[in-house]
Amino acid sequence: MTLKIRDIEFSYKKGACILKGLNMDVGMHEVLSILGPNGAGKSTLLKCINGLLKTKKGTVFVDGEDTHQLKRAEVAKLMGYVPQRADVSQITVFDSVLLGRKPHITWDVSKRDLQITKDAISRFGLDGLSLKYINELSGGELQKVQIARALVQEPKVLLLDEPTSSLDLCNQHRIMTMLVDVVKHGDLTAIMTMHDLNLAIRYSDKFILLKDGKIFAAGDHSVITPKNIETVYGLPVDVEKYRNRLVIVPL
Ligand code: ADP
Ligand code: MG
Repeated sequence: MTLKIRDIEFSYKKGACILKGLNMDVGMHEVLSILGPNGAGKSTLLKCINGLLKTKKGTVFVDGEDTHQLKRAEVAKLMGYVPQRADVSQITVFDSVLLGRKPHITWDVSKRDLQITKDAISRFGLDGLSLKYINELSGGELQKVQIARALVQEPKVLLLDEPTSSLDLCNQHRIMTMLVDVVKHGDLTAIMTMHDLNLAIRYSDKFILLKDGKIFAAGDHSVITPKNIETVYGLPVDVEKYRNRLVIVPL
């Protein structure tokens, strides 16, 4: 599985250009983090990748196939998307996760669909909430439900918009460990946005620093430098090594 993003340009109706010709490649088993300040265009980029937003120019190839030419149902088999803000309706946790199987269900829900759903609910520690309505969940519980739903979809590309923003410290690391495990052992790639730089650094293989709708820097951990972070976020930082991991400390 390879994902190639070529020359993506996007603007909202009548608005200024938000994404100005972005290119990137992501390989199988890789976790890529899109970093950048509020309003940099991170969420917009994720929506352009999965085709929720129509790009003005450019496209996205998965294994050489131009995904912008595919029907929504076909895109749903390739890409799972976890939005930053979910539409919350009166539906149970179980049904909400099961909905992730929709792209694979041709006639009726199969035993396998139900089993995959049950397994995901257990893995995310949601067993006790299975029959609860999702509009009665805490922010963190809902976030887990959404990630579980995207995983049961069995996509090749997982797009996650701030997947840990509502999670407590323990759940942040638990969910990220689980996601990395799925990516490393499946035929899968993950692209996520994240505000917590230290969390992103710890669990990602590659980074894209977005500034003013352009890629300011891209690459492995070597792009996480004080100069790059200060230029993109406008805040001076130290980048230190602690127990062999990079840690960002604002000054
Ligand atoms: P980020 O996720 O990096 O914080 P977004 O992609 O959400 O940034 O937003 C990028 C820019 O696009 C911002 O200036 C924002 O105000 C604008 N924007 C986002 N959504 C819309 C929309 N639906 N209509 C018009 N402008 C939007
Ligand atoms: Mg965003």
